[in-house]
Amino acid sequence: MTGVKSIFVGVPFDDGTTFRTGPRFGPRAVREASRMLRPYNPVVEVKPFEKLGMIDYGDVDTVPGYIEDTNRKIEETLTPIFSAGIIPAVCGGDHSITLPVLRAAAKKYGALSLIHFDAHSDCWDDYFGKKYNHGTTFKRALEEKLIDPTRSIHVGLRGPLYDSTDLSGLSKMGFSVITMKKFTELGVTGTLRQILEVAKGTSYVSLDIDGIDPAFAPATGTPEVGGFTSREIQDLVRGLDGKNLIGFDVVEVSPPYDVAEVTALLASNLTYELCSVIAKHKQP
Ligand code: MN
Ligand code: MN
Repeated sequence: MTGVKSIFVGVPFDDGTTFRTGPRFGPRAVREASRMLRPYNPVVEVKPFEKLGMIDYGDVDTVPGYIEDTNRKIEETLTPIFSAGIIPAVCGGDHSITLPVLRAAAKKYGALSLIHFDAHSDCWDDYFGKKYNHGTTFKRALEEKLIDPTRSIHVGLRGPLYDSTDLSGLSKMGFSVITMKKFTELGVTGTLRQILEVAKGTSYVSLDIDGIDPAFAPATGTPEVGGFTSREIQDLVRGLDGKNLIGFDVVEVSPPYDVAEVTALLASNLTYELCSVIAKHKQP
């Protein structure tokens, strides 16, 4: 893989979902929607795929119905990628797939700064009485010391919870939080300032497509009204510090619920934008 600085890799797995299923078909739909991506990004002013020598690495060989076996496969696939310093653009899959990606990343980089866009914190200790699914990912990552909470931030949280402690518990764990309510006050610029203040050092971005409003991204498993517009999330992503990013994922796209491929199109665009901010800082 001479000259390859980044790969696109799919993880077609959705047995970590708790409501609507379907993200196992995410990678296929995002690839299909990516055919409209042209080489030059005029806003970030870079040719991301060319500069990163990017290739499609195919899909992780998942084990349908078996989350822990799948987690092992994901970790095995991503470990040599991170260890070679290659930046994976991971395409889910539901949000449970991020945990083994972080396990692989932390072996190379230690505890990471996490920038997490999502309607949900995914920090429950258990969900439906289980420790491993898409609602517990970052609690496990925290326990396993894959992420450093003092350098990590959850952005876009909203929607009904079980209790007020679901939110207050996050700061007790050491995380920073920008709820949608807070985003309304801060706007894109203020939100970016806060993200960049918190996310120091080696960082990983995890972007749950349900962070975006269901009007713009209907195809997802656990939709919450009142989220980011497509333009707001584009601006947020474009404002990140690409030189510190060692990998990212875009997850929870569930194509069976899509309309006119609008969600897949957004996910492929956000993948492109994230690649662009990373490519901007790389030597050709
Ligand atoms: Mn999530
Ligand atoms: Mn979510």
